[in-house]
This record gives sequence, C-alpha cells and structure tokens, in this order.
Amino acid sequence: MASIYCCKECGTNLNLQSTYLYPPDFYFEAGNKGTLSFSLIDSSKFKFDKEDKIRPFFETVNYWGIQRKRTKIKCNSCGKLVGYIYDDGAPMTDSPGQFHMGPSQVVPRNPRYRFKTKALRIASET
Ligand SMILES: [Zn+2]
Repeated sequence: MASIYCCKECGTNLNLQSTYLYPPDFYFEAGNKGTLSFSLIDSSKFKFDKEDKIRPFFETVNYWGIQRKRTKIKCNSCGKLVGYIYDDGAPMTDSPGQFHMGPSQVVPRNPRYRFKTKALRIASET
C-alpha cells in the first residue's frame, strides 16, 4: 500500500516514495523516534539549508560520530522545516565488516532524509 506524503502546512505533495522509506525498525545511531527516514527524495520539492553550528571533534572529511553536520529540509512551497538530512544512512558497502560485526562506522554512508512525522500529512493512496 502506497502512501502520499504532503506538507502539513501548505498541503503540497512532497512526492516522497514509500519505496525509499527505511523500515520502521531500521537502526540509526541518531535515532528515529517520531520521524520517517527516506533514502531518496525528490529534491525539486524541497529547499536545503546547511546547518553548520555543530562543530565536529575532528576536522576530517569522513569523521562520523555523535556530533555531525546536518542539513535542514524545508518545503519548497511554504518554507516550513519538515526534516533534516543526516549522513548515517545505509552503508555504501555490502561488506559484513571485520569479524562480521557489521560495517565499520568509518565506511561512507548514504544520506538519510529524516522527516518529522508531525510536519507531514500522510494519506493512503486509493
Ligand atoms: Zn509546505
């Protein structure tokens, strides 16, 4: 069953695809409570606003830890903040990792588009 995700503020269809929705039990370091995470979104529907006030411990490109940069996702029609982009999505590798403990935290990760459930109006396609 496909769902239609609209901006709660202005009702614009945000063209979010259930196909790219992470499973509800998918584990994220930064948590997933009250939010929906997508692996791919239609960037024409949104405005992106880099939030850079969180200073990382180390100035390395691939640093990945508790403090990380995130990008604001805003509705392109009304400008309401609907979510954030994190960089803790699915690892870009199929490797089982060292001792099969799972991929290391230093492998590049796919972006995760995390939406606040409260900022969305979710309808079922009929
Ligand atoms: Zn809107």
